[in-house]
Amino acid sequence: MSAVNETLIRDVVAEVLGKLGGTATATAKPSPAPSAPAPKSDSCGCSTKKVSAAPALRGKFGVFATAEEACEAAQESFLQLKQKGIAARRKIEEIVKTLAEKNAEAWGKIEFDETKIGRLDHKIAKLQIIKLVPGVDWLRPDARSGDHGITLEEFTPFGVVGAITPSTHSIPTLSGNIVNICAAGNSVVFNAHPSAARCAAIAVRAYNEAIYRETGIENIACIIEKPSLDSFNALCKNENTRLLLVTGGPMVVKAAMQTGKRAICAGPGNPPVFVDDTCCPTRAAKAIISGASFDNNLLCIGEKQVFVLDHVADKLMQKMSENGAVKLNSSQVEKLTKAAFTITPGQGGGCAQAHTNKDFIGKDPAVLAQAAGVNIPAGTQLLFGETHAMHPFVQEEQMMPMLPIVRVKSVEEGIERSLQSEHNYKHTAIIHSHDVENITAMARALDTTLFVKNGPSAAGLGLGGEGYLSFSIATPTGEGITNPRTFTRVRRCVMVDNLRIY
Ligand code: NAD
Repeated sequence: MSAVNETLIRDVVAEVLGKLGGTATATAKPSPAPSAPAPKSDSCGCSTKKVSAAPALRGKFGVFATAEEACEAAQESFLQLKQKGIAARRKIEEIVKTLAEKNAEAWGKIEFDETKIGRLDHKIAKLQIIKLVPGVDWLRPDARSGDHGITLEEFTPFGVVGAITPSTHSIPTLSGNIVNICAAGNSVVFNAHPSAARCAAIAVRAYNEAIYRETGIENIACIIEKPSLDSFNALCKNENTRLLLVTGGPMVVKAAMQTGKRAICAGPGNPPVFVDDTCCPTRAAKAIISGASFDNNLLCIGEKQVFVLDHVADKLMQKMSENGAVKLNSSQVEKLTKAAFTITPGQGGGCAQAHTNKDFIGKDPAVLAQAAGVNIPAGTQLLFGETHAMHPFVQEEQMMPMLPIVRVKSVEEGIERSLQSEHNYKHTAIIHSHDVENITAMARALDTTLFVKNGPSAAGLGLGGEGYLSFSIATPTGEGITNPRTFTRVRRCVMVDNLRIY
């Protein structure tokens, strides 16, 4: 039986027992592994664990009602992991990667049903690739050996990491974060997005259940069952929380940076694409469609607007039409714009402000097409249409499968407009070009964390390009594509005059 089936069955049993006034905990917990520590007991030998009146998920295997309870459990778990050593970290990595892949279909569906954004096939794909996230092997110490002895710098854990996850990829982010954070010897407490919190808790519970069974370590990854701004604040303030990892939009990045705790922030993006006349238009069109249509353009790295040299624009758009994208005419683009954004005129005649209509975020092309008043063939991956450079579809991180195409007169204008539309997030930019001077000029000007040449944005995360995967790309704070080292303290150990063997 798969882990998720067990989980679902346990939920149902817990709910039924709750309605009957029984206790869920006894049913929920399997016998501990032989190596597992005995549950805490009071003086008369009874379990001191709280027996809850059947909450759906809470009270066991990492799911807690409050940040305080979760942080306390995670701190205890961090100490357990310290004792069990690197072998246990390896086991945790293996369990998370195996379960993510094994449960990809079931969990992908649970997340899709809860959030109702993105594409089911891509929700599943994002879990199948967790195995590409780097783990324990990433942590090789740095050594120096010389006339004055040997110095070793080791990458050691912080303790409890407080992690905030987005609605756009709740279980994938959480899973990748556990691999990175626990490979480095830490434990973690998650405050998920409220609209993707239940699926996150289901995955956390399944991971903890398996980790406990295999290693005897309890609550290595904890989660607050009903996350809120209050639980975010409590998590950040808790004295056990040593470090924050925030994956989300501008508001949460700002909030995390104001906490006074060190925060690794994987912030928003609005990735521009520049296409010049030296590229292969077919390859560029296919790559743009593949990147911008993935999970209905929910990814922070996904192509969000295209600037193309005027004299190759028609060719590029023709190739996009031939490869699964549908072009909207200008009145259809404007109809969709009115539905997808709320535009308020700027004060005192200033620039208008656009707010994305949440009902369109991550929705299928067919939903957008309906709002644009057009019928599209089944299987359409992406919509596109020509706009001006200051159009809301260009300026907003729209997170929907509609790509604005803007003609530019020169390479300089293309780079300048790309830079402006990226809003200094320093996240991701893409170029399709075989001119090394244009490529270099754009890379230098944009100054982004990821810069992809002649491929889809996903190539920046090792999917079709070289490299490794993470769903948390630390942009404003500069740690880059997060990996186990991101969550370590560097400690130096020095032996003077000895131990060098030559
Ligand atoms: P969001 O900012 O609405 O929410 C992200 C998380 O922050 C959620 O857990 C949410 O509950 C919390 N949050 C939001 N505002 C908060 C506040 N003021 N105080 C405390 N917590 C707060 O984003 P989303 O819609 O869930 O995800 C999409 C956003 O995340 C996009 O901007 C995308 O670019 C970004 N993102 C970035 C990365 C990256 O690696 N850089 C990865 C995924 C998503």
